[in-house]
Amino acid sequence: MRALRLTAWGEPATPTEVERPVPHGTEVLVRVEAAGLCHSDLHVIDGAPGALPYRLPFTLGHEVAGRATALGPDAEGVTAGQRVVVYGPWGCGACDRCAAGRDNYCDRRDTLPWHGVGLGRDGGMAEYLLVPSARHLVPIDDLPAVQAAPLSDAGLTSYHAVAGLRDALGEGSTAVVIGVGGLGHLAVQILRATTASRILAVDVREDALALADRSGADFGTLVRADTARVLRTRSGGAGADAVLDFVGTDRTLELAISILRPGGVLAVVGSGGGRLTVAKPGVLPPGFRLSLPFWGTRPELAEVIGLARSGAIRVETERFPLSAAPEAIGRLRRGQVRGRAVLVP
Ligand code: NAD
Ligand code: ZN
Ligand code: ZN
Repeated sequence: MRALRLTAWGEPATPTEVERPVPHGTEVLVRVEAAGLCHSDLHVIDGAPGALPYRLPFTLGHEVAGRATALGPDAEGVTAGQRVVVYGPWGCGACDRCAAGRDNYCDRRDTLPWHGVGLGRDGGMAEYLLVPSARHLVPIDDLPAVQAAPLSDAGLTSYHAVAGLRDALGEGSTAVVIGVGGLGHLAVQILRATTASRILAVDVREDALALADRSGADFGTLVRADTARVLRTRSGGAGADAVLDFVGTDRTLELAISILRPGGVLAVVGSGGGRLTVAKPGVLPPGFRLSLPFWGTRPELAEVIGLARSGAIRVETERFPLSAAPEAIGRLRRGQVRGRAVLVP
């Protein structure tokens, strides 16, 4: 079968021919119908040797939807032919976090940091994906795979990040979303669907602001010298109750801090390598809280799928055949993807 393999750090990943896997034990073979391309894939491809705890080679792809086609003899909880989305953070399965469907915060951090399907283990940018257990599958019924796949990370991570801020986002509150790409446009929709907050969006691209508007943002602005002042005014004067930073560079963290009101909360989702210094007194507002969410829980993925099936959220996608993965990666790198690029084998 065809698979997009990462064979050397910093080298382009290209589709190659590999053996189709066979399910043993509790494993389930999924015929991939769609695999989302995440900005994290670029961080992974670019990873300096040793920077990430993954061993090469492996197949990329951590947002995967398709059909369970073959089951190992001990697989339970799924039927052959069932359409599913893959819950991607694959924890140890034995700790109490994993038992509660919170593999994203598996206690075995010594062996499994920032790890999952397509992240150090063979992923779904391929014709077939081998999933270790049916507990990593969530049914999607008739939801199109091109929608379902990005919901397993872009949707789930945004949902989990917003859930962590919900106590700050009551009536009259302001949420700011920095970076309205694959994750950010869904964060805007999830804020709209699940909180009462006023939603302000920031990006460096006009087309991303148009997407923010379509996603339900109240106001969008480009990053400029006076962005902090504009956002503060739009918040009603006091500043933001919560900021979700989907970029995570020094520049965006600085912007986030400058617009947070006292008692405000910052969720850093983007892996842009920026740093924050904690000093008291310092630039951080009094009562400042920080959240560093990673992916989301399995029950949350089921909720996200439910939101999509009800029509409350919808992923904006650009489709590419798997053979055009290098082109899709190039477009994402150049900031030319609107919403989420999805590969279809
Ligand atoms: P994306 O490329 O689809 O979107 C990024 C958006 O940010 C784009 O619209 C871009 O124009 C905008 N942007 C870039 N620089 C900006 C700046 N200085 N100010 C404002 N906007 C700016 O990326 P994505 O797939 O949505 O991923 C976003 C980030 O989240 C990445 O760093 C990714 O690695 C990370 N991520 C984290 C998790 C997690 O669990 N914490 C999960 C998935 C992705
Ligand atoms: Zn991702
Ligand atoms: Zn665990």
